[in-house]
Amino acid sequence: MILFFGTRLRRRVLGVGTFDCPHCAVVRAVERVASRVWAHLFWIPLFPLGTPRVSLQCTACHGEWPLSPGGGAGAVGGLSMPQA
Ligand SMILES: [Zn+2]
Repeated sequence: MILFFGTRLRRRVLGVGTFDCPHCAVVRAVERVASRVWAHLFWIPLFPLGTPRVSLQCTACHGEWPLSPGGGAGAVGGLSMPQA
């Protein structure tokens, strides 16, 4: 019998806003995304592994910047996002 067991990164959008994207160098739409690795068996998620990571992702260039533990945007400026 063959078991298909592995890990997969699952992402969930927590909110949408705008920010001054460092890569695009203009104000762009941004998504606040929580990502976490899950163990799966036959592509069915079983349980999460590790801690979730929250980051900002530009919807135009798909660049991703991690948020600081306090929820701040770190080096990313001009963030305008409603808190979920
Ligand atoms: Zn961008």
